[in-house]
This record gives sequence, structure tokens and C-alpha cells, in this order.
Amino acid sequence: MRHTDHLFTADTIGTYADAMQQGVDHLVRHVEHLQQPFSGVTPTASATKVGPVDLDRPLGDTAEALAELSELYLDDAVWFHDPRYAAHLNCPVVVPALLAEVFVSAVNSSLDTWDQSAGGTLIERKLIDWTVARVGFGPEGDGIFTSGGTQSNLQALLLARGQAFLEETDPTAPMAATLARMRIFATAESHFSVQKAANLLGLGAEAVVLVPTDPGHRMDPFALAEALDQTRRAGLLPMAVVATAGTTDLGAIDPIDRIADVCSAPAGVPGRGRQEGAVWLHVDAAYGGGLLASTRRRHLLTGIERADSVTIDYHKTWFQPVSASAIVVRDREALRHVTWHADYLNPRSAVLPNQVDKSMQTTRRFDALKLWMTLRTMGADAVGELFDRSIDLAQELFWTLHDDAGIGADFEVAMHPTLSTLVFRFRPSAVGEEAASRLNARIRQEVFAGGRAVVAGTTFHHGTWLKLTLLNPTATIEDLRAVLSLVHGIGHDLLDSATEEVA
Ligand SMILES: *Cc1c(COP(=O)(O)O)cnc(C)c1O
Repeated sequence: MRHTDHLFTADTIGTYADAMQQGVDHLVRHVEHLQQPFSGVTPTASATKVGPVDLDRPLGDTAEALAELSELYLDDAVWFHDPRYAAHLNCPVVVPALLAEVFVSAVNSSLDTWDQSAGGTLIERKLIDWTVARVGFGPEGDGIFTSGGTQSNLQALLLARGQAFLEETDPTAPMAATLARMRIFATAESHFSVQKAANLLGLGAEAVVLVPTDPGHRMDPFALAEALDQTRRAGLLPMAVVATAGTTDLGAIDPIDRIADVCSAPAGVPGRGRQEGAVWLHVDAAYGGGLLASTRRRHLLTGIERADSVTIDYHKTWFQPVSASAIVVRDREALRHVTWHADYLNPRSAVLPNQVDKSMQTTRRFDALKLWMTLRTMGADAVGELFDRSIDLAQELFWTLHDDAGIGADFEVAMHPTLSTLVFRFRPSAVGEEAASRLNARIRQEVFAGGRAVVAGTTFHHGTWLKLTLLNPTATIEDLRAVLSLVHGIGHDLLDSATEEVA
């Protein structure tokens, strides 16, 4: 083959089709033979395979490259579609979105300007408008696709910072001084990307004030009002409140409606309207955002329409391949805080629609097409039902464990699930608090090393617990009971061997 034969062109379209077919066949054969979600490979064993590859000596052949890919990657990949994968917020992906990927990569539009993405720009805009409407924002709403919740949260807080600067009433104040006075309000359950954003935005992670939560691990609106009040009285500047709609660990949904009341009615600032004294409310719905498509649980997001900005991760609870996320805002004017004009790309005089004005990225994948093909092929209700069923499963598992006098007796569950996570631990009655933490950390390692299931770990009430994140609506309660039996068996083995060691 000539070098140019490797390019996707009209002349090589047959080569392209052959390679794609080989790739799909290879994947199909691989998936058909999978037995468990993970091989259990260790980083050391993986390094002995990946390390020796000489990148300066190409294999020169698709079949050989695919065979090598199996050995280095597919054989050891963690498969999210396996019903016993229940660790993080990874979903099995819908086929219409995978079909879209073919076009996303091959056409390779870049969504910064119209002259690189004609048509695509409007498809993305229509999906944003649709999301805006589902959130309940009015016609002034807008937004942009991003690489994930972390970026969406960063952009939301960047916009909030831009608005907060406008509230600085002292025109002589140096920017750095105003920045140093800004505070962000979140909870200990909020995603760490809030602190990361505070660092990136020049505020420092310590500018994030952790508001106390209620027994359900939701932000306490009274405590928020109190914290805002104290901040103002100290001469500081509340920049944003971050409410989480679905915390990563417990799936808790902060009381958005009541938080919105607090954000819109600043205490001690008489005569200030919504615009001036109000605090920017960002709702991080990276996880709970899938409820926008739910026909049964949309009410859990009540109040979200009162936010200034919202993060939605389509690559979590909308069953989309990574990456697919958006930030949507109530007032498109706010997006000007990320606008920069370049003569060659988006001059002020530009007449064509462009997306780069609203985005932190420049060159940007047409990830929106995945959601588009999903909605056009199966529809939003079907997507919502996939998430709803995952939530049903978590509820059912909770009650199964609760009512089970057998292995259930050796488990503790942190909280009744709101969404689709279950935080739990193996703790037979004789096991003390500290021993339980060590034991559950070991259990998680052993489960992972065996590869028959994948569960997550987290901290709850200062101890180490386990977590199941259920986003696979094809998993059955039997699959999950099998995961729990595995945990239970490993837990008892570890306890027995510990007793032997002591004896
Ligand atoms: C996953 C998650 C994020 C981060 O999203 P990424 O897409 O992983 O960058 C932010 N907030 C919450 C609540 C999340 O669950």
C-alpha cells in the first residue's frame, strides 16, 4: 500500500469499508466470547505487554494490528456492558450512538465554526435548545456541548465568575483583590471538579465553602442561607452556589427549589433585584440529568428550571459513548464570558453562526451527533426508561438485601437509594469499625483482581465502604445477588484467613 492509501478519500473508500468491516467483525467475535467484565490484569502484567511495543516499527497490516490490539487491550479491557460491572458511572452504550460515531470520526467536522461544520452546528444547537426546553429554561436559554461534567462545571463556574466581577461595585478594586473575595458554596458530597475548577479559576480550592447537609446528605438550605449571610457580612463575595442533582456516591439530590429561593433572596441587601444581589445557581446534574428524559421520575429535578446553569452528562445516564456532555444556561448573555474574537476564525463582524464563541474549546468533536441519532432512532422516552430501570434495580436490590436473613445479615447499607447507586459494606456483627474498613478495602481489591465483577469503593462516615453503581438496565437482580455473594464469600475467606494468622 502507498502511504496515501491509508487516507480516507474518495479513491480509498473501498479500503475504508474493508478496514471497518474487519474492525467490526473483530469486535463482535471478541464480545461474543467474553465471560466476565475484566481479566483481572495487573498494571505490571499489562506493562510487560504494552512496554515492548516498538512504535517505530509498524506492523503494516490491519489484521496484525487488530490481533495485537486484542492482546494489549481488548483481552484486558473493563467491559461496562457486562451485568456484573457495577463500579462507576459508566453505562452500556446505545447502538444508534455507535452508528453516529462512524460519521463523527470519518466526516470529522469540527464544531468551532460554520465553515468547518455546516449543518452540524445547527444539529448541535437544536439539541441544546431541546435540552434547554427539557430543563425548563425559556427562549433565552443556550449552551454548548463539552467533553464532560468536569469541563461543564468549570465553564459554569467561569461564567459565574464573570458575572460576579460585574457585581464588584468598587471600580478601583484590582481584579486579583476581587478574585480573592469570591466564594463558592457546595457540600462535602459535591463532585471534586468544583474544587478543581476553583483552583483553575484562580480562587483556590479553599474558596469552596462546604455547606452542611441534612441526614439524607442533601444541602441544607437554612445552612446555606446562614453561610451566605456570614460571607456577605465578612465583606466577601458569594460567586456561585453549586447544587448537585445526583451526588456521585449516594445519588442524593439537593433540594434545588429551596436552594433557588435562597439564591434569589439575598439577606441584608435591601432593594437589590434578582440581577444584582442574587447568587449564581449552578446545578450539577452530571448524574441525575438523565431524569430529564424519565417519564416516571422527572419530578425529582423540580426547581432545576430556576438555575442559572446546569451540567448534563449524556455519557453517564443517557447511555452515550464518552465524551458527550453539555452545559446549558438560562441566559445566553452569560456565555460571552468565554468569547474571544480571532481575526482568522470568528471576527466580530462574523455573519455565519459559530459555536466557538460559546465554548472553552476550539477544535471540537461533533459528539452531539451521537445524541441526535439516539433521539431520532429510539427517542427520549426509551432512553429515560433505561435509566428508570437502573433506578428500579437499585431499589429492588436495597429491599432484597434489607429483607434477606441469609447473606443480607452480613451487609450494612448506607442509605436507601434515590438514584441507582448502593453504598454498602460487608460487616458481620463481630467485626469492629476499623477492621470493617480494612476488610472492605481488601474485598474490593480481591473482587477486582478476580475480574468476575467490578465494584467501587468509597468513604462513608469516615470508613471504607463498597459501592455499586447500577447503569445497566439489562442486569437482573440475580446478577446483582451473584455480585453480593461473591463479595460475601471473599469477605468470609478474608476473615477466616485473618483468624488463622492470629491463631
Ligand atoms: C461524573 C460527575 C462529574 C464529572 O463528570 P465527567 O464527565 O467525569 O468529567 C461531575 N459531577 C458529578 C455529580 C458527577 O457524577
